[in-house]
Amino acid sequence: MEEAIFLTRYASRVTLIHRRQEFRSQPILLDEARKNPKIDFLLDTVVEAIEGDDKVRNLALRNVVTGARSTFDVEGIFIFVGFIPNTRLVDSHVDHDKAGYYLTDPMTMMTSVPGIFAAGDVRSQLTRQITTAVGDATTATIAASKWVEEWRRGREEARAEAV
Ligand SMILES: Cc1cc2nc3c(=O)[nH]c(=O)nc-3n(C[C@H](O)[C@H](O)[C@H](O)COP(=O)(O)OP(=O)(O)OC[C@H]3O[C@@H](n4cnc5c(N)ncnc54)[C@H](O)[C@@H]3O)c2cc1C
Repeated sequence: MEEAIFLTRYASRVTLIHRRQEFRSQPILLDEARKNPKIDFLLDTVVEAIEGDDKVRNLALRNVVTGARSTFDVEGIFIFVGFIPNTRLVDSHVDHDKAGYYLTDPMTMMTSVPGIFAAGDVRSQLTRQITTAVGDATTATIAASKWVEEWRRGREEARAEAV
């Protein structure tokens, strides 16, 4: 919804194609999009092909309820189908939110597993931008190096006590 509303700043018409009747977006955004005179909705529909020559000319569409196929002339297409966080690497060990993003301590970027830090798009947060990713990474790097130093010191002290 956010992206469709944003595109109306530049496009004279925006058609939002969606495979179902219902939306999972925030009701306030859906309401704003529905009230926007530049936005049309094409529901129960999927795009099967993007067709054109040197530029995009039309979309091959299929209605998922009736099975009817049609062609829809367009001058451009913006694909926005949601996100799947790329967190499989350590997924089963680290606490994450409902959408699968890692939960982190905001002061240090450390996850629920001591010594594992997360920064950028994999982290549960409000915005995912280059600037926030760089900020997260700066914090995580400094915190991680401090954590390693403390861990090393603790190990050396434990060894000294054992001797
Ligand atoms: C279409 C699009 C447009 C965007 N436009 C903007 C914009 O205009 N302004 C803005 O600020 N932000 C924009 N963003 C968001 C921005 O790109 C991200 O927030 C930012 O790149 C996140 O940085 P990151 O380091 O967390 O992840 P990434 O930049 O995705 O870097 C992660 C890296 O890790 C690598 N990787 C993944 N898995 C593994 C693995 N298992 N082992 C080793 N390496 C691995 C990947 O190949 C990748 O290089 C946009 C994003 C998209 C998708």
